[in-house]
Amino acid sequence: MTKNTRMTKQRKAILRVLKNTESHPTADWIYEQVKKEIPNISLGTVYRNLNVLSELGKIQILDYGSTYSRYDGNPKNHYHFRCEKCGRVYDIHIDLFDDINKIVNEKTAFQVNEHRLEFTGLCPICQNEN
Ligand code: ZN
Ligand code: MN
Repeated sequence: MTKNTRMTKQRKAILRVLKNTESHPTADWIYEQVKKEIPNISLGTVYRNLNVLSELGKIQILDYGSTYSRYDGNPKNHYHFRCEKCGRVYDIHIDLFDDINKIVNEKTAFQVNEHRLEFTGLCPICQNEN
């Protein structure tokens, strides 16, 4: 199997847009931003390149089931908080990965490699509106 892992102009532009935001945007938002630089790019091309960038380990796809996928320019494992009211997705800067893996390793028969954990509730902006 040959796969194109070259960093094309389009792929670089998509990665740059994603690295420069902390909003965990949708593909549509990324598409609108990249279009300013590459007007003839298509939404399909953006989706395709986002998938390749994820396979290359350069970005993360955050899958929230029924809602749109969101994309994260930080490929390293970290936690997220999703606001139930406005839908914004925030980074949670608490590093418990090793601790939680260790606890499950020690207390169960499973050998843990990774885990996923997502927080939900009200973000500070929505709390202030209440
Ligand atoms: Zn909110
Ligand atoms: Mn993130």
